[in-house]
Parts: sequence; C-alpha cells; structure tokens
Amino acid sequence: MLFEKIGIINEQYEYVPDMYVGTLGNRIVYVSDVAPDEAHAAALGERYSGAGRVLMPAFYNAHGHSPMSLLRGYGENLPLDRWLNEKIFPFEAKMYRKAAYWATLLTMAESVRTGIVSTTDMYNFVDDIVRAVSESGTKVNIGRHVVDFTGGDPADNVTFQEMRQSILMYDGFQDGRIRTDASLHAEYTSNERTVRAVADAAKEFDVRVHVHVAETAKETKDCMERHGGETPVQYLARCGLFDQPTTAAHCVWLTDEDRDILFEKGVTVASNPVSNMKLVNGMCETAKLYDRGVRVAIGTDSVASNNSLNFFEEIKVFALSGKMRANDPAALTPAQILRSASREGAASQGRTDCGLIKEGYRADLIVVDATAPNMHPVHSMLNNLIYSASGSDVVLTMADGAVLYDRGEYKTIDLERVKYEVEQARNKILLSL
Ligand SMILES: [Zn+2]
Repeated sequence: MLFEKIGIINEQYEYVPDMYVGTLGNRIVYVSDVAPDEAHAAALGERYSGAGRVLMPAFYNAHGHSPMSLLRGYGENLPLDRWLNEKIFPFEAKMYRKAAYWATLLTMAESVRTGIVSTTDMYNFVDDIVRAVSESGTKVNIGRHVVDFTGGDPADNVTFQEMRQSILMYDGFQDGRIRTDASLHAEYTSNERTVRAVADAAKEFDVRVHVHVAETAKETKDCMERHGGETPVQYLARCGLFDQPTTAAHCVWLTDEDRDILFEKGVTVASNPVSNMKLVNGMCETAKLYDRGVRVAIGTDSVASNNSLNFFEEIKVFALSGKMRANDPAALTPAQILRSASREGAASQGRTDCGLIKEGYRADLIVVDATAPNMHPVHSMLNNLIYSASGSDVVLTMADGAVLYDRGEYKTIDLERVKYEVEQARNKILLSL
C-alpha cells in the first residue's frame, strides 16, 4: 500500500505533513517527502489518499487479560476485595474454553477498532487465546501466569507446567506475531521457590517475563512484612526475576531504590492508569520513572477494570494522571507519551522491529481521521492526538502489512457472530453461578 501526501508521526515523534509511506508484505519499505517514481509506486499496490488523515505507529497494549472482556460492566462500584471475591473470581471460575475464545475475539475487534495491534496478555486458556489472536491477524505476548498457594515443588504445579508448555508450543508462532512470556501472577500469589522457578524458566527458554508489581499500597506493605522490609521490586529482583527483560505491570507504589533497580535491570513498567483509578489503587509516578530513565509503556489491564480498550482514552488518562501525580502540568512531553504508547510498548514485547514509522520496520500502522470536529483547529497535531482524539477517530488499522480494520469494516473478524457467541457464553456462565 502507498499512503500519499499524508501527515505522519516520525521516528522522533514529530508531526510531519505531506509524506509518502509505502508498505510491501509485512514491512514499511518507503518513507519520504518525495513521491516514489511510477514503477516503484505501482509495485506498492493500493494507493491511500492522505487528505485529512494522520498516519501513526499502531499501539501496543502492554498489559491485558483478553478473555475478561466477558466481564465488561459486571462488577461495579465495589471496593477491591469485594470486587474480586464476590464478582470476578466466581465468574472466572466458570470460564470455559469456548467462552475464552469468543471473548478474546471480541477483545481483538475492540482493539483494532481503537488502534491496538498487539497485547501483552496474562491469562489461562492459552490455546484458545492463541487461536483467536491468530485468526484476527493481531499479535500477542501470551503469559500463562503461575500462582502457588501450597509451597510445593513447582514442577508439580499445573500453572507452571502450562506456562512451560505454552512457551514450547507457541513462541514465535505465526511469523512471530505470537510470542510467549514467562509469567508470574504476583508476589502475593506465590512464594520464593515459585518466583525462582519462573525466573529460571525465563532464562532456560530465553523469553521475557510478565508480572504484576506494586499495584496497591496494601500489596507493598504486606510484602515488606513478609520479606524483611523488601518491597515487591526489591524482593522480585533478589529472586532473579528481572534478570531477563521484564514487563512489570502497575508499579504504582515505588521507592527511589525501586526505581533505581527497575532502571538498572531494564524493566519496562506497564502503566494502567484507568484501571488504577477505577479501583482507587493510586496513580503511577510516571514523571519520576521518566526522569530516572525507566522504560514506560501503557496498558489497559482487563476490561473488567477499565471498562474499554479505547487506547486514545488510556493515553489521555496516562498523561493527565501522570501530571496530577507530579503536581506539574508541564510533566510528560507529548513525544514521551506517544513513544510509551507505541515504540516502548513494542520493545517491551521484544518486538524490536515494530513501533516506529521507519523503513525496514514491520508495517503496524493506524490512520486517524483528522477531519473530525474534535481535531480542529490544529495548533499542535501531537497535542490533538493525545488530548482531543478518540478511539473512534481511527479509520484504518494495519498489522504486519495486513489491513485488519477499515472504516467500520472488520477484515478478519465476523463481529456479529462474535457478539452473539459472547452473549451466549455470558448467559451460560451467569446461569451456572
Ligand atoms: Zn492485570
């Protein structure tokens, strides 16, 4: 495809109007302010008029639980412990394979609708998630999370066995669109032996790690009591979990020493501002992370605590909550914010050739309609994209050079069927509770 005379967000996260961007196969092969010659243009195939459009790197959702779209709006207006114990856990206990498959397809439909092409996912039902993601043409880093409440041998732990199996089966599947992570649910759902076993597995298979860290004040306080004053970051680091590249979701409650460790270990924080605020867990100190040089990506967390995958909304709340927490309206630059939404997210998934509009990179791209009233006038396109755009302004989503969504049309997902099947699964689970 050849995008002609289109405004783009370039590698430096600047807005540049009237550019030409060509894709061939799964790659971006041409980026220039000069049109390619006719023979070259013909080889790129379909032409896309850039009038009133902005081409951006697509979004990488750095933390999610895809099948949980089935719980959208199910547990509301409750404190965290009651939300989990009275609503979420009982519902999830009745989740079954087909339900997870259809719910993941619903999640992928909503994702491509708002510009997300890839998700760092933590859940069971790995086979069904991989099937749904593969069919949708999107990408996933799937981590079958390990939990252990027994203190037994990790080799006998079913969650640990499933995690190992998922890595053996799926890492690099679908031309690398499917990647696998070693995943520990959290410090408070495991013990030191389990943490070390997950860390060892990550090293053995040379995969990334995905873990929840310091989401709530209580989690951090309890961890310090359990582990001789060590915070979750300090404890997990001592157990070797961060020796492999790691995505640490949340990181709301950190000390200066924690930030030093995250920086030194090259850990990426996946901040989930909407979920953190909805569950009143706090606001991430994003400005301090940036200042310390810690890598920061953006996630939605599950739809049960969000309640959508509107990534433009997530970006805006990320910016606003980061400024509030820093008590500084000048904190977090537009380039930092958009980079966290795209390039840092891709890098946190080990997708080193994704997340920028750059020749040779994979063609993960979205087109935003800049003719919408909320996008006018334009004093700064970057600011309009962060603070004025909405997920519904996305008119085209492309992953690995394949168009997955185009002006209301889903190219790989039968949305009517998905909505019907999700409704059936919801009813079945509710009747069984
Ligand atoms: Zn989570």
